[in-house]
Amino acid sequence: MPTSPSSEHVYRGRFAPSPTGRLHAGSLAAALASWLDARAHGGAWIVRIEDIDPPRDVPGAGESFIEDLARFGMTSDEPVVWQHDRYAAYEAALAKLTAAGLVFGCACSRKEIFAADLRLRLPPGVYPGTCRRGTGGRPARSLRFRVPSGTVSFTDRWCGSFTQDVEHAVGDFILRRADGLWAYQLAVVVDDLAAEITDVVRGADLVDNTPRQILLTRALGGEPPRYMHIPLVLNDEGEKLSKQAGARPVDVSDPTGSLERAFAHLGFPRIGADSPEAFLRVAVPLWRERIVG
Ligand code: GLU
Repeated sequence: MPTSPSSEHVYRGRFAPSPTGRLHAGSLAAALASWLDARAHGGAWIVRIEDIDPPRDVPGAGESFIEDLARFGMTSDEPVVWQHDRYAAYEAALAKLTAAGLVFGCACSRKEIFAADLRLRLPPGVYPGTCRRGTGGRPARSLRFRVPSGTVSFTDRWCGSFTQDVEHAVGDFILRRADGLWAYQLAVVVDDLAAEITDVVRGADLVDNTPRQILLTRALGGEPPRYMHIPLVLNDEGEKLSKQAGARPVDVSDPTGSLERAFAHLGFPRIGADSPEAFLRVAVPLWRERIVG
């Protein structure tokens, strides 16, 4: 059973990078925030390598994430979870959703979806519901989640209240892609439920994915975790750092300096520590005081 965040003092957090490159300043800030939040609550922190997208994953990147995190003094409290080991769990979740009538096969290509959006004056990329009542004899390419009408709201611990009408903002979203790969939304929810994660701390780029994940969590009979989305680290052009776009890896030769910079990004003053361990020791109570309250 998933643990509700309010129950007792059980806190289980995670850091879940996709191994598409090296740890950069943005992923270090997310790792640090999630680690500090877990420690400040006296909870567990688990690393999960989200390697479900072989075309984008870089061989060896998952291992180097784990090594780099260790240089910063952060190691998983439990065996690292690798999503490539979790396919049976995704299959079981899909079967459960299918049995509940919440999955349908979709024959549309991206091009067809964009063309329909233009015709129907929908925002580009929103699924227009074409195959909700069947594919009209065309072979299904992907599997989609049947999104219920209405809004989904949650209170983000960093950003405050957030509401989204998933049906209109996104539409029925993909659970299994046309190339047969599992979609991030399904994998992340299944794995957070299996690990009994109570608190998700990650970058703000995922805040608008959260309502989809709340819908899926509930559809699988779980209780959504609490969420905290931290500000993104931007490059000089004001864009989000991304591993695929070639963001510079963090300086692992100066782990304390890199941690100080990540902490400053999160709005904290410089600690002036001389090792990652000393830095983390001082950072935990500061985080507890200011963020946990
Ligand atoms: N794997 C995702 C990424 O690296 C993060 C998933 C999550 O934290 O929910 O962007």
